[in-house]
Amino acid sequence: MLSRQAQARQLDAADPLAARRQAFHLPADTIYLDGNSLGPMPFAARDALRVTAETEWAEGLIGSWNHADWIGLPQRVGARIAPLIGAEADDVICTDGTSLNLFKVLAMALAQRPARHRVLSERGNFPTDLYVAEQAIAQAGHRQQLVCVDAPSELDALIDDDLAVLVLTHVDYRSGAMHDLAALTARAQAAGALVVWDLAHSAGAVPLGLRAANVDFAVGCGYKYLNGGPGAPAFVYAHPRFHDRIAQPLAAWFAHAEQFAFEPRFRAQTDMRAFLSGTPSVLAMRALEAALTVWDGIDWVEMRAKSVALGELFIDAVTERCAGHALTLASPPAAAQRGSQVAFRHPQAYGVMQALIDHGVIGDMRAPDILRFGFAPLYTRYLDVVNAAEILGQVLDEARHEAPAYQRRAQVT
Ligand SMILES: *Cc1c(COP(=O)(O)O)cnc(C)c1O
Repeated sequence: MLSRQAQARQLDAADPLAARRQAFHLPADTIYLDGNSLGPMPFAARDALRVTAETEWAEGLIGSWNHADWIGLPQRVGARIAPLIGAEADDVICTDGTSLNLFKVLAMALAQRPARHRVLSERGNFPTDLYVAEQAIAQAGHRQQLVCVDAPSELDALIDDDLAVLVLTHVDYRSGAMHDLAALTARAQAAGALVVWDLAHSAGAVPLGLRAANVDFAVGCGYKYLNGGPGAPAFVYAHPRFHDRIAQPLAAWFAHAEQFAFEPRFRAQTDMRAFLSGTPSVLAMRALEAALTVWDGIDWVEMRAKSVALGELFIDAVTERCAGHALTLASPPAAAQRGSQVAFRHPQAYGVMQALIDHGVIGDMRAPDILRFGFAPLYTRYLDVVNAAEILGQVLDEARHEAPAYQRRAQVT
């Protein structure tokens, strides 16, 4: 019987996506399983930053808004994101951050259902989404209320004619559990509600079909699986039925129908630019634009197959190698119900992750006890997965996670 390592090498040799890894700078002696928090740097992004700074900014100066088409970036980058989420180019705009964009789309959605009182989400949703929902509801002033369920199975009973908006994160940031986006969208819309999806852990991680599922609104992140760089701008999707009547509370001059007419009265764009606010961060957007070229010609059937295979291999390898230790799977055991990440619980999760990072395996820890590992099929190898499980086994066998040095908490976990 072949060793796990030998099997992994065979899988890597036969991997149709293997060559994509060369598009990224990946530090030596590091197994990077945290692309779900911050994607690694595509060389194309670094090169674009250089050109943008040295040529477009340094030489082109203000003229680059026209000559380098900086002004067209939000739409151009949106169009590049569109095929990754199953949308048309005109349905997506790149702008601001995920939290701000969620506020914009929620405010718009809430205003469309003023007579309905319930806004539905999950208590375990990424906290920013709940904070933003509370703020959007307070600002809207329609006596709407945020109701959060503890388990996805409780959603259905609360989808009725008093539901204004269903706002969910498609893939759970801790467990990696994935909602049935099409089914929940159809269910909520059948009850007359609007649907807002947060795709922070989905875009670039799993195949998505927003148009096919008739999704109303979605937001997503540029610095996770899209590898746009730290603090990369985010995106908004809206179904075309809304494009000519977009009204959002942070509309500023970039959202104006005639920005350079400098009219004192606001008139919204009649396309996705109506979701813009002020001047975009050009350097950051150029980096994301270039980072998105690594997806050119991608086959989502291959992507999903590899994502599932990496996750299954990791679960099998950890279960076998770490038997007897206090690890429990915190992700759905069925691959069809997971995004592209796997989580395990451990009572000393912080120390375990610090020890792992010190031994070259980078994942992250989410309080109180979750060890989180992301599997980005563009650059993760099967061998990385097997080696990560082996190193986790060594850390636990030798109780290295109990060393005092691994208990000191940094600000970012
Ligand atoms: C990462 C993440 C965010 C990030 O929001 P920012 O505005 O970029 O800080 C939002 N929602 C979810 C579900 C996330 O996972």
